Amino acid sequence: MSAAARIWPDATGRFGPYGGRYVPETLMAPLEELERGFAASRADAAFARRLDDLLHNFAGRPTPLQLAERLTAKLGGPKIYLKREDLLHTGAHKINNCLGQGLLAERMGKRRVIAETGAGQHGVATATVAARLGLECVVYMGTEDMERQRLNVSRMRLLGAEVVGVDAGSRTLKDAISEAMRDWVTNVRTTYYLLGSALGPHPYPLMVREFHKVIGIEAREQILRAEGRLPDLLVACVGGGSNAIGLFHAFIGDATVRLLGVEAGGRGHALGEHAARLAGAAGYEGGRPGVLHGAFTYILQTAEGQISTTHSVSAGLDYAAVGPEHAWLAGEGRAEYTAADDGAAIDAARTLARTEGIIPALESAHALAELIRRAPEMPREQVVILNLSGRGDKDMDILARYL
Ligand SMILES: *Cc1c(COP(=O)(O)O)cnc(C)c1O
Repeated sequence: MSAAARIWPDATGRFGPYGGRYVPETLMAPLEELERGFAASRADAAFARRLDDLLHNFAGRPTPLQLAERLTAKLGGPKIYLKREDLLHTGAHKINNCLGQGLLAERMGKRRVIAETGAGQHGVATATVAARLGLECVVYMGTEDMERQRLNVSRMRLLGAEVVGVDAGSRTLKDAISEAMRDWVTNVRTTYYLLGSALGPHPYPLMVREFHKVIGIEAREQILRAEGRLPDLLVACVGGGSNAIGLFHAFIGDATVRLLGVEAGGRGHALGEHAARLAGAAGYEGGRPGVLHGAFTYILQTAEGQISTTHSVSAGLDYAAVGPEHAWLAGEGRAEYTAADDGAAIDAARTLARTEGIIPALESAHALAELIRRAPEMPREQVVILNLSGRGDKDMDILARYL
């Protein structure tokens, strides 16, 4: 069957050859309990109603699909629409997943929630949901990221979360995930691990996609209303891959809609200088299949199989592995993946600020940078939806340095 005709994952959490559950024995039982809890929640109409209510009244869904008139005119190419996830409570798409998993934790009787965070956005969204639902919250964060995102550390603490600095390895997201997994194994009876992207062992990539697919469901209805037809192209940045799969999922069966994921090109093509796991065709070194944090997927690694360090101006894209569903979509040729570098992302953020009055998150600015590069060559009759995954307030220190 083609990618378009079949909805993955299968019962073992595979997206074609990718995904699965590569974890120590101690994590098997917790993951099976989670899988059962998630399945039960999907069959529960009251759970769905409660989630809908929180998404609407607490987070601010539905988000607008805005025609970017001045950006479209400036680039002289296709008509560009922005899916405004930046307008959600806490400033990014991440709250969709946190509300879903927070309610799941509550439904499973777990009163303590732990999370890992890179940019700090997932930690803030988790701490926010934990406060709203009255759950205890502990967030693991690399100390390098704590330095880069000081304001988010204060936000989490103000919301009542305990922020634990992780000083191991590269002191970024990868190390925070390892630490969170260790905590989970130790405290599994009381504790829910709220993973922040479409990553990790089954059922996380499935669950996180399901909680974010509302982005694409809304966008599909909105574009049909606005244009009377489907878009030609969807563009989203890819860190772990949650905002991208959230937008893409409702369109995977629509063969005329092209899907474009944009990774972090960092400051060069050499291994260690970027976080472009799937953009090998564009010349980025080191992305090959392997296992990291419980899933078989594309990973940046040395010839000997050591996990590589990564670099991006944007903490949210700075991770060595990508969600397994994206590895699958890339392998099938259903989605295309490329990368935008640090400088292009900064320029794109400035362009959007000045043409549309929107300061985007540096993550989202990567998707925008690639669209800005391509748009002048694209036919004017075409329609593009760009996922504006978050707002740039958290990145103002970095943006100001480049002004
Ligand atoms: C975390 C984050 C990302 C990257 O995560 P994905 O799981 O790939 O979506 C992208 N944009 C923003 C604004 C983020 O906060």
